[in-house]
Amino acid sequence: MSISENLESIKAQLPEGVKLVAVSKTKPNEDIMQAYNTGHRVFGENKVQELVAKHEALPKDIEWHMIGHLQRNKVKYIAPFVHLIHGVDSFRLLKAIDKEGRKQKRIMNCLMQFHIAEEETKFGLDMKEAKEMLDSVEYKELAHINIMGVMGMATFTDDEQAVSKEFQCLKAIFNELKTQYFSGKDDFKEISMGMSGDYLLAVKGGSTMVRVGSSIFGGRN
Ligand SMILES: *Cc1c(COP(=O)(O)O)cnc(C)c1O
Repeated sequence: MSISENLESIKAQLPEGVKLVAVSKTKPNEDIMQAYNTGHRVFGENKVQELVAKHEALPKDIEWHMIGHLQRNKVKYIAPFVHLIHGVDSFRLLKAIDKEGRKQKRIMNCLMQFHIAEEETKFGLDMKEAKEMLDSVEYKELAHINIMGVMGMATFTDDEQAVSKEFQCLKAIFNELKTQYFSGKDDFKEISMGMSGDYLLAVKGGSTMVRVGSSIFGGRN
C-alpha cells in the first residue's frame, strides 16, 4: 500500500478527536510530501538536527512535533517553530524550554513524559518528580510554557494485557494531575500514547494523540 493509502486507513480507525502524528523520522522529504499532499499536516521527529533540516526544506504550514528525547542545549534550534514537545522528562528541561520560549517570545507547548514501561531505558518522570516540579515556586514562575498533557511509551511486547495496563497507568496519571493541578485549564487535555504496534489499544485506553511511523511510511533500518 502507498503512504496515502496507509494514512487513510489509519485515520479511518481513529475516533474523532484523536490526533494522528505521522512519525517521519529517517524518511526522506519525498515521503513526507506524499503524506502532505493528502492534506496531512502533523508530523513528528525524534532528532533535533533532522527536525530542523526538514522544517527548513518543507512547507511552512506543517505542524512539527518533537517526540524524542530532547537535550537542553538543543532546545534553541527548535524553539522558533516547534508546535509541541512531547518528551519533557525533567524539570531542568522544562526550564530550558521556558528560557528559549522567552527569547523567541513564544509560548512553548509541552507534554510531561512519564515512565510507564517495564524497560529501564525509556525516559520519563515519575509521579513524585512531577508533583515536586508542579508544586515548586520556580515552576509557577515559568511564563513561556504551556503544559498540555502527558506522554508515554509502552513496553515493546506482544502482551496486549501488559501494554493496556501501562496505558491505563498513564491515563490514571493524567486524571490525577488534571484534578490536582490543571482542573481549571482546558488546554491540559492531551494523552499522547500509541505507536504502530499498539495505537488501537492506546485509543481504547483514552489516547488523544497517537504517534505512528512505520505503519504509514514503512519499516526503518
Ligand atoms: C519512532 C517513534 C514512534 C513511532 O514508532 P512506530 O512504531 O514506527 O510507529 C512513536 N513515538 C516515539 C517516541 C518514537 O520515537
